[in-house]
Amino acid sequence: MNWFDEVLYTELSDQGYMQRFKVDRVIYRDQTDLQDLVIFETPYFGRVMALDGVIQTTEGDEYVYHEMIAHVPILAHGAARRVLIIGGGDGGTLREVLRHKSVEHAKMVEIDASVVDVSREHLPSLSAGAFDDPRMDLVIADGCAFVKETDERFDVIIVDSTDPVGPGEVLFTEEFYGDCRRCLTDGGILVTQSGVPFFQRDELSRVSHRLGGVFSDARFYLAVVPTYIGGYMALGFATENSANLTVPVETLKTRYKAAGLNCRYYTPEVHSAAFALPNFIRETANL
Ligand code: SAM
Repeated sequence: MNWFDEVLYTELSDQGYMQRFKVDRVIYRDQTDLQDLVIFETPYFGRVMALDGVIQTTEGDEYVYHEMIAHVPILAHGAARRVLIIGGGDGGTLREVLRHKSVEHAKMVEIDASVVDVSREHLPSLSAGAFDDPRMDLVIADGCAFVKETDERFDVIIVDSTDPVGPGEVLFTEEFYGDCRRCLTDGGILVTQSGVPFFQRDELSRVSHRLGGVFSDARFYLAVVPTYIGGYMALGFATENSANLTVPVETLKTRYKAAGLNCRYYTPEVHSAAFALPNFIRETANL
């Protein structure tokens, strides 16, 4: 449930915990073919986008999530040339992926064209020109159907999805993970948005079980995104090459420097430390 008026936006979680934003101005509101899409201006977080009453991204803290969902798999891989993003309509993940000059091709498969169009117009700092990069290819389609049918192969697949309700639900199934595995090159990496463990315990446990049923090595790493309430957010990391999970921090430093990155949240040390899980998360994920 959520309430939205021209003064306050309230997001109430299934657990009865809420966050509220003071709304300075409503920028956009419409029902797309698939989702209720709203963008509003706030005093501290800048512009905020919500889909079906769930906060997707804010100008103020988006860098945490987008840097961590993009740079961890790309720098762990070390030679990613082809990257597939599923979802991610706001363009933030695409922006971070394309900061890697080594990436020759970034394909983004987003189900809702309106999210892309509205984000380009009203949240331009999210994509920061990434949709105009000649290395990118935007496909408007269901990501689940795309990986089932495509013959293309990718070094890194990033699932930047909504939660497992509505159109995002299919992106949390074992069948989808199996199709992603088939679309990865040898030593490739799949990363998935896996919710906030403190609140979404069932989601973490299900994702862990399903990823573990498909990949020989499936773990989680963590980032703290203030507006994804409940503390740590979990990102699934699945691969057939366990070496991707134990890249020495010195190697990450070399790759980070070679990529010319200067991030606000990501550092090679944060990358390594993000895989250390508090016990309640380890137990929930049954690792
Ligand atoms: N960072 C966000 C979060 O954790 O809440 C995710 C943001 S991004 C805007 C999520 C995107 O996934 C949305 O644009 C939505 O349209 C897209 N999406 C949902 N289901 C999808 C599907 N089956 N295939 C492709 N894209 C999908």
